Amino acid sequence: MATGTDIAAVPGSAPGDGTDASLTSRQRARLPLATQRADRKLDAIASNSAAQLLVQASQRAATVVQCIAWLHKAATAWGEPLEAVSACRKGCAHCCHIPVTITGSEAKLIARASGRGVRTPPRGVRVQDLVDAESTSAATRQLQQWPAGVACPFLSDAMCSVYAARPLACRVLFNMDDDDLLCQHGDGEPAQVPYADARMLRALALAAQPAEVLADIRAFFPPGER
Ligand code: SF4
Repeated sequence: MATGTDIAAVPGSAPGDGTDASLTSRQRARLPLATQRADRKLDAIASNSAAQLLVQASQRAATVVQCIAWLHKAATAWGEPLEAVSACRKGCAHCCHIPVTITGSEAKLIARASGRGVRTPPRGVRVQDLVDAESTSAATRQLQQWPAGVACPFLSDAMCSVYAARPLACRVLFNMDDDDLLCQHGDGEPAQVPYADARMLRALALAAQPAEVLADIRAFFPPGER
């Protein structure tokens, strides 16, 4: 399973407090170099047959939850060669403060691992709405509405407390630059980040659960509640 670069804005970045006006300009200046670095690193990574085998296993799963569990394994295998060369480091938690979209099946896996109860999201989006051309923009906007800067309820001491059960969104988000500059939450326009391209894994996961509801992880597990 090969991968390329997916240049995207940091999802849901919120306006900052205006105290670091230089951040946006430093991020803009960095992007061309970051993109070159990302392309170079991703070109050097061979096609990942282990991830491909796990994707095939997911397609033989008896239930949606089992299928998603296999796709999680596939995503982890896909990400292994990226870990060594990406900007992502243990203890760096920028991406745990931006919207994190998960499905009901993923919420069940996290609930099982954490012992927390799952809430029905008040404003979830149906998976089908994301593949329906007329609804996609509205659905995407709704999924990005959780205020940026609010930590994921499973972030503890800058570490993920449900690491083994973390959702696909957290397994596949790799900034392929050399450091976290572009992930930092700044004023104004969200930074563009050269992420490794995980669109195929995301599409497979959505196709496996068309009847599911998508929502931010904080809507399934409101911060401060158990
Ligand atoms: S599930 Fe874990 S990795 Fe994902 S946003 Fe929450 S704390 Fe971060």
